Amino acid sequence: MQYEAVIGLEVHVQLKTKSKMFCGCATEFGGSPNTQVCPVCLGYPGVLPVMNEEAVSKTIRTGLMIGSKVAGFSKWDRKSYFYPDMPKNYQISQYDLPLCAEGAVEIKLDGGKTKAIGVTRAHLEEDVAKSTHFETTSGVDFNRAGVPLMEVVSEPDMRSPEEAFAYITALKEILVSGGISDCDMEKGQLRCDSNVSVRPIGQKEFGEKVEIKNMNTISGVRRALAYEIQRQTAALQKGEKVSQETRRWDDAAGRTFVMRTKEYAHDYRYFPDPDLMPVVVSEEMIAAARKLLPELPEAKRQRFIKQYGLPEYDAGVLVADTALAGYYEKAAVASKNPKAISNWVMTELLGKLSEAKRTIGECAIQPEHLTELVALVDGGQISGKIGKEVFAEMFDSGKSPGLIVKEKGLVQVSDTGALEGFVNEAIAKSPKSVADFKAGNEGAINFLKGQVMKLSKGKANPQLVGEILQRKLRGG
Ligand code: ADP
Ligand code: MG
Ligand code: ZN
Repeated sequence: MQYEAVIGLEVHVQLKTKSKMFCGCATEFGGSPNTQVCPVCLGYPGVLPVMNEEAVSKTIRTGLMIGSKVAGFSKWDRKSYFYPDMPKNYQISQYDLPLCAEGAVEIKLDGGKTKAIGVTRAHLEEDVAKSTHFETTSGVDFNRAGVPLMEVVSEPDMRSPEEAFAYITALKEILVSGGISDCDMEKGQLRCDSNVSVRPIGQKEFGEKVEIKNMNTISGVRRALAYEIQRQTAALQKGEKVSQETRRWDDAAGRTFVMRTKEYAHDYRYFPDPDLMPVVVSEEMIAAARKLLPELPEAKRQRFIKQYGLPEYDAGVLVADTALAGYYEKAAVASKNPKAISNWVMTELLGKLSEAKRTIGECAIQPEHLTELVALVDGGQISGKIGKEVFAEMFDSGKSPGLIVKEKGLVQVSDTGALEGFVNEAIAKSPKSVADFKAGNEGAINFLKGQVMKLSKGKANPQLVGEILQRKLRGG
């Protein structure tokens, strides 16, 4: 029998706000443990939380980007459980009235097809503290407690680990481009619980699902799902049952382990938090959030084609990566030759970045310097070939092309006197090519041109060299 997987993801995203969800403490990552805390986020009794409006606004904006219904009325609920990272015994979350309901994220599949993955809801809650376990003790860092956390719950619409991978990637792209979150998984800004079940192909009902908790790399999610699908399929094939449980992925061991079974499932005893007012979202708030929406990828692609005269292919490559598109645009907007900027970005820059395993955000070349480089080549101050050398140096040192050209004496020789010298030398050294040219083989001139470039160490202005050669060879 053939089986298929059914996957639904719960993605937790730390929102990019200056202060926490219900107090004024800083959210900045990396501070010494327990230095960004106050009685509210430490969970002292008797304190009063105050809602962070920016977090609400960013969640509304997310809802608009994924086509959700934004609720005019939603509220805060207490999700009760005790854990050292949550000492007030409940987490403030949203239960039956989330800020955003329904929506979809479009993913790209192999062969250029797309598929819409439904989103059930996106709600807002507070992050919990971070526990670290040492050899004999454990520590709890409350800097993370109370950071605004948005949970995006998908429909069980994915059918393979690859689709899950594409979904997280696409969601991340939306959130980063909208300025909602930096989604830096290494900093725990995006974490994912994966739910997966398998069923015989053709069966309508879903199988029993297993939840794999808290993964913080997208490739880990893909590996964990692949493992789980294979484990569950093998169990069903043996006639065993898959039991509903929560499991943990061990990346080093390459397998999942049981954390808790259904009998130990929490009863969170949700109830409305009496300390917080319900959230009433006005039409004005939605309109304000709409104004802050980023340009959608397709609109940006069309604009790049029109505004910068780019071929569709270039626009597609650039727009696929928000940061890259931003970089390109900074360089292109000040350039007389935006297509040349695109050529440099798509070939030289992307090549170097992948070689150096760096992201565009870590690129040493300022976009303005790329504009300058293109102007130097177009203006004939340096040849395209020298341009590549200069580019490599810019990539390594971050220096401006003007400075590099000056320091290394790379200015193109356009002085006809000097060029004639090189041309004469090349002609004298290559009588065969000269004879070939005169016998009607026009291509022979390229060899002579190459000789002149060599003699000038690549600094001769190729166009002028061509003209002088033509003149000399035809003249005599
Ligand atoms: P729970 O109450 O256990 O949290 P939910 O119904 O809220 O379960 O679903 C949580 C996530 O699990 C959602 O992303 C949903 O799409 C997914 N899901 C639900 N049922 C299944 C299933 N049978 N197989 C795979 N994923 C599922
Ligand atoms: Mg759940
Ligand atoms: Zn605080």
